[in-house]
Amino acid sequence: MGVYKAEYIWLDGTEPTALMRSKTKIIEQGKEPPIWGFDGSSTNQAPGDRSDCVLDPVFIIPDPIRGDDNVLVLCEVLMTDMTPHPTNTRALLRTAAEKYASYECLFGLEQEYTFMKQDGTPLGFPANGYPAPQGPYYCGVGGSQIYGRDVVEAHLEVCLEAGLGLSGINAEVMPGQWEFQVGPLGPLEVADHLILARWLLCRIAEDFECDATFDAKPAKGDWNGAGCHANFSTNEMRESYDACIAACEAIGNHYLEMVNNYGHGIQDRLTGAHETQKWDTFSYGVSDRGASIRIPWQVERDGKGYIEDRRPNANCDPYVVARMMVNAVCMDAEALKNA
Ligand code: ADP
Ligand code: MN
Ligand code: MN
Ligand code: MN
Repeated sequence: MGVYKAEYIWLDGTEPTALMRSKTKIIEQGKEPPIWGFDGSSTNQAPGDRSDCVLDPVFIIPDPIRGDDNVLVLCEVLMTDMTPHPTNTRALLRTAAEKYASYECLFGLEQEYTFMKQDGTPLGFPANGYPAPQGPYYCGVGGSQIYGRDVVEAHLEVCLEAGLGLSGINAEVMPGQWEFQVGPLGPLEVADHLILARWLLCRIAEDFECDATFDAKPAKGDWNGAGCHANFSTNEMRESYDACIAACEAIGNHYLEMVNNYGHGIQDRLTGAHETQKWDTFSYGVSDRGASIRIPWQVERDGKGYIEDRRPNANCDPYVVARMMVNAVCMDAEALKNA
């Protein structure tokens, strides 16, 4: 009887930003990946005397690194009584997504990240001092603008091979900084695909002996931070401009609570400079990359579509971001209907 390898992947309890963890289970051919466990005392998820946590498989894809019949197994973390662990933000999103399923929410997430060297500076930064100022790097080409393209290409390839919903990639504003887009997909799907795409990025980077960080401000000074813009629509927004404006207003009613849950170090990134609105200020506008929420120009022209929440950090928890947006927009839409 043959066997295959299942790489179980989960989010841990590290503060202030959860880390990805994984380990391998050998499974007999023909059997599904079962519920499994791990030592929560090594991941900030349990005390040593009650260390067992449960891994519950929720999303399984082919493993593009190992190939053959091997798989990646994204898991929710449960307590031993099978209730969600306090660090399990996916379970909370599941509830919100089910409650507002009739809105048919869609998300497109723009995951920015930065390749770092061992000296702690971004790839493309000289050992001493700084590279030429920002300008030519975004969507650039050529050896003095672009750093790490071989890793980026390898990452895109494995994501597509695994069936993840990537919709594009681009070089970003700072040297060594890149972006991939996931979606549009439903709330749970987009977050699941994003976590596995993040995991594959870090895993592929190992093979190139480099490291990708989701740090929101990897270089201090006059350099763009790294975000995870969340593009969002409901079925109403995809039909009506008024619904898009109503969604902006709804987010405005909840903006501080959202910002406080959009990733560690957000006040250092949302400064009002570098294509951001200041973290404590709320605004929305057509084509405005200095606003909290941008309405793309095609959306104004077409009179329908989606909005872009520009505030989430690159290091955000996508399950939390999606939950915040679904709740803010759908709760207010529901209240308007019942008024
Ligand atoms: P930009 O860099 O100009 O902000 P991107 O092209 O990087 O824009 O990302 C736009 C994102 O919007 C894509 O991830 C896409 O999937 C997403 N998107 C497009 N249409 C919708 C929609 N109706 N609802 C939600 N997201 C959408
Ligand atoms: Mn983008
Ligand atoms: Mn970007
Ligand atoms: Mn964007």
